[in-house]
Amino acid sequence: MEKPIDVAIIGGGPAGLNAALVLGRARRTVVVIDDGRPRNKVTREVHNFLTRDGIPPSEFRRIAREQMERYPHVGFVQDTAVNVTGADGDFRVTTEQGTFVRSKKLLFALGMKDVPLPIEGLAEVYGISAFVCPYCDGWEHRDKPVALIANGEGAMHAAKTIAGWTSTYVICANGPAGLNEAQRRELMRRRIHVFESRIARIESIEGQVQRLVLADGTVVACKAILFSPMLVAGSRLPQALGCQVLESGAVLIDDIGRTNVPGVYSAGDVATKLYQAVTAASMGSIAAIGINSDLLDEAWVSDS
Ligand SMILES: Cc1cc2nc3c(=O)[nH]c(=O)nc-3n(C[C@H](O)[C@H](O)[C@H](O)COP(=O)(O)OP(=O)(O)OC[C@H]3O[C@@H](n4cnc5c(N)ncnc54)[C@H](O)[C@@H]3O)c2cc1C
Repeated sequence: MEKPIDVAIIGGGPAGLNAALVLGRARRTVVVIDDGRPRNKVTREVHNFLTRDGIPPSEFRRIAREQMERYPHVGFVQDTAVNVTGADGDFRVTTEQGTFVRSKKLLFALGMKDVPLPIEGLAEVYGISAFVCPYCDGWEHRDKPVALIANGEGAMHAAKTIAGWTSTYVICANGPAGLNEAQRRELMRRRIHVFESRIARIESIEGQVQRLVLADGTVVACKAILFSPMLVAGSRLPQALGCQVLESGAVLIDDIGRTNVPGVYSAGDVATKLYQAVTAASMGSIAAIGINSDLLDEAWVSDS
């Protein structure tokens, strides 16, 4: 059986790719296993990433892969990792198509996945005129009329946040708004209207939202939608190895990306609540340095 490589990385988004870059430059043997389903696949442009503001996500990855070609010990497997076993020093990853990778260390950079809201017409506008993060896409929708699909504390938070980008917005709670009297008074004082009828459908033209039609017949005209999908981890593999996770599957890590399982690390969206590409890349870099330091320490001790 072949000797283990240094690091298997599951997930080739900004987190996994940046980790691979740092490890490749540290002369580590690395395999990145990725099945090409990044969370931002629906969007046309990545924003807030210095030197890459406005780049399509696919182009971002293409450049990353191209730059990695300089480092001969970094390999890629385009497939889904379906099984992970083993322990520190000898992990075994199997993919759907039957590729088998043995590695001393393992990095989960799995990202998160949206659980889509069941609203007719939302899929057609998502990533074009419906967005989930004002920091990512608020600039493109500045000063436009926006419908916030949110309720409860989420609605209050969305209302306060979007105020940085536009002053024309309403809340469509898609049912009971779940607001207390004080919150209702606060929104009324700011002239933020709350619609509590269910959203029957979203009407759009070529991805540009035109209006929300509510079940009670009300029509809410707007140019953009801000909403929060429920998120779940990109895979349940960390649980299989005994990693501590939150209910969503998000992996708990320390300051340098170590999980509670020796030899297993995590980075990016699956290990933070700050869902930004540059944050994910930074976490990938931090975890890679953590992994390399641990490998160097282990080699130093075994040589003594
Ligand atoms: C609509 C939208 C717009 C966004 N816009 C921006 C923006 O403008 N700027 C910004 O900074 N951020 C933006 N984000 C957030 C950004 O996309 C994420 O923060 C970033 O992609 C996280 O990187 P990651 O590497 O952690 O995960 P991802 O990019 O999601 O990559 C994870 C990878 O792991 C793979 N994977 C998962 N499980 C397996 C498995 N079992 N086997 C093999 N591969 C697996 C997935 O296929 C995926 O390719 C946006 C998000 C959304 C949803």
